[in-house]
Amino acid sequence: MKSWLRLFLASFALVATFALASAVASAQAYVGRPKLIVLVVIDQFRGDYLNRDHDKFKGRGFRIFTDEGAWFTDCYYDYGNTKTAPGHATLGTGAYTDGHGIETNEWWDAARSYEHKVSSVEDERYQLVDIPAGSIPANQPGAPADAAKFLIGSSPRNLRATTFGDELRLATQGRARVFGVSLKDRAAILPAGQSANGAFWIDTASGYFTTSTYYMEHLPEWAKAFNDGGHAAAAASEAKVEGTTQFYELVGHTPVANRYELDFAKALIEGEKLGQGDATDFLVVSLSANDIQGHQFGPDSESQEEMILSLDRDLDSFYSWLDKSIGLKNVWLALSADHGIAPIPAEAAKLGIHAARLNMQTVYAQLNAKLSERFARGKQEQYILPGSDLPYITLDRRAFEKAGVDEKTAEEAVAALLPELVASQTPQPTEPLPLQHRLAPGPQFVGAYTRLTLASGQLPPSEWGRLLAHSYADHGNWFVFLALGAYQMSGGPNSDGTTHFSTWSYDRHVPLAFYGAPFVPGEYHERVAPVDLAATLASLAGVNQPSAAVGRVLTEAIKPAKPVN
Ligand SMILES: [Zn+2]
Repeated sequence: MKSWLRLFLASFALVATFALASAVASAQAYVGRPKLIVLVVIDQFRGDYLNRDHDKFKGRGFRIFTDEGAWFTDCYYDYGNTKTAPGHATLGTGAYTDGHGIETNEWWDAARSYEHKVSSVEDERYQLVDIPAGSIPANQPGAPADAAKFLIGSSPRNLRATTFGDELRLATQGRARVFGVSLKDRAAILPAGQSANGAFWIDTASGYFTTSTYYMEHLPEWAKAFNDGGHAAAAASEAKVEGTTQFYELVGHTPVANRYELDFAKALIEGEKLGQGDATDFLVVSLSANDIQGHQFGPDSESQEEMILSLDRDLDSFYSWLDKSIGLKNVWLALSADHGIAPIPAEAAKLGIHAARLNMQTVYAQLNAKLSERFARGKQEQYILPGSDLPYITLDRRAFEKAGVDEKTAEEAVAALLPELVASQTPQPTEPLPLQHRLAPGPQFVGAYTRLTLASGQLPPSEWGRLLAHSYADHGNWFVFLALGAYQMSGGPNSDGTTHFSTWSYDRHVPLAFYGAPFVPGEYHERVAPVDLAATLASLAGVNQPSAAVGRVLTEAIKPAKPVN
């Protein structure tokens, strides 16, 4: 055969093979990369809400996931520090606190300050940008001469792992663009990552969106136009708090705040032309309003249900807008939350659950008194740093070191005192109980684990031990991790509301769902975890897993890319 003919036939065969292969593949598999991936994180949204309110959902808000997407009903965080900052870091990095380094929202950082706790993203090397003049401390009426002329900035300085967004940026030499949006700085910054093109959150007084000089010197024109466009004033008016200088508190806890954020996200997508480049872009929108309200009224309140149903309508409208502007066939959507929430203790106690509050101020005072007896010969010293959020109790190592006490002795002394101090807050009956009468439940001690124990990994080889090991990060201070009984939390006699922080299922249960070309629609009951989100997106996008990722690729929900023989 002549060589040109051989070449022709060979080429023909090759083309035919490709055509056949692609025809087979396109029948079963997703084709190509999306133009845009949008992750919506709802701040404080327990996994069971999607079941509980499903019949009331309309349109394609939540139902785009539950009815058309791949919906994982049993997604649980595998750690015991279920707070906002670590939850968002986990969703971005596919790692837990022992991998990404974020253990709670703010902590005592021995290397940075003993004057105040630092927040997970606070960074004094940067400034917030384009803050309205009225929100600057120096411009307040009667401000002292040394009042600050700017607000301290934020950055992902404490985030030790890369995110899915970072890996997209690395894989495309920066052509993929990555952004985060939230009312809260930590929730915009941490899931987006170190290399994000921008993260935007609000100035809490005015509601105007801002960012930090870590990202840019000034807001982009589209963001300035949004701030100047009267959106904050309109939102305040809709929330019936016109002219407020407490936007975060007063508008932030209403459904209006979710719409306000989604409107900003639309402005961002248009302004940055997301989904119009030659690489896949990634946007994280963390909706804060459910959390701000949920802490006040609890998960079972009418107002929380109204918030959820209102968000359902707002997501429907946001996804319809995405469909018109970019086309949902070009977009992958994901949905999750940073943590769940406990019912209000008094409400759960009415049903007979051992729900209770532990007065931590009392515990701290007793700890300081007993440690002073032992280590300061009765002279009153402060051995515990104030205001750490459970599950962590932070020791003031300077006070112990002054008394010549080493870390092991100090942490073990605190851990040994806690069972008795917790038990002492359980009310005891003063008279014989009448029949059919239950005692009011009191707080229960479950475990206290020293920093040294967590650091050395000397934990039970059980699920419980694994949860604790995942909750460890070191910021230079000594601490003890305190586990209370389920449905219990800190609080004084006059506390209301509820919170999330614990190792128990209701704090760890969140939604996990996907919509888009590569996903096999269905309801999946396999136990999965939020770390699986970044692992799955990275695998589908064909990029490296984030640097500390431990998640599983959710292969059961992915269409085969090639027919399997
Ligand atoms: Zn949160």
